[in-house]
Amino acid sequence: MVPFLLVYCVQFIETGKGFSMYICIDFDGTIVDHRFPELGPPVPGALEWMRKFQEAEAKLILFTMRSDGGSGGDSLTSAVRYLEENGITLYGVNRNPTQVHWTNSPKAYGQLYIDDAAFGCPLIHPDGFHRPCVDWDIVGPGVMEKLKE
Ligand SMILES: [Mg+2]
Repeated sequence: MVPFLLVYCVQFIETGKGFSMYICIDFDGTIVDHRFPELGPPVPGALEWMRKFQEAEAKLILFTMRSDGGSGGDSLTSAVRYLEENGITLYGVNRNPTQVHWTNSPKAYGQLYIDDAAFGCPLIHPDGFHRPCVDWDIVGPGVMEKLKE
């Protein structure tokens, strides 16, 4: 409860608004098809719903295993650029900038996590995709409902 109140206060000071949700979103299999370290084709609906979440004042945090400088090259930077080029303004990348005020935890703090690997996440397997991906027809409206609560 105390961390929640602190987050609320920090956000209120930052934005002058009440609480809006932090949503941590995975990349491969969630926003694009699995083609690591390349960028796969977009998962149907992902970018459109992310833009709607932004309009509803959600703060989007990219939460991915991608990184820079490893065997996959700068795959994290390429994911961040891809999102920027598609109208997504990230609040954080693999971390929630507000949480340094109240925790040393390395886990990015969010109220919601969207990840194709999450148990129970609805999946589809579009033609030509290498692996199943998030079914945004279900996830998008479900998250939107929570944003309006
Ligand atoms: Mg994934």
